[in-house]
Amino acid sequence: MAKRKIKNKTPSKIWTKYKEKKPRTCPKCGPGYFLSEHKDRLYCGSCHYTEFSKK
Ligand SMILES: [Zn+2]
Repeated sequence: MAKRKIKNKTPSKIWTKYKEKKPRTCPKCGPGYFLSEHKDRLYCGSCHYTEFSKK
C-alpha cells in the first residue's frame, strides 16, 4: 500500500502556535489548508484565495 492519506485527526506541530487563534481553513482547498494572516486579510498560498477580514 503506497497510498498516502492526509490525516486531519492530529494537528501537526507546525500549527500548534496557531491553535490559540483559531486558524481559518481555505474554503476552496478544504480542511488542511490554512489561510495565512496578513495585515487586514487572509491568504491561501495554495490557490491564492484572499479573504478580507471584516471589522
Ligand atoms: Zn486555497
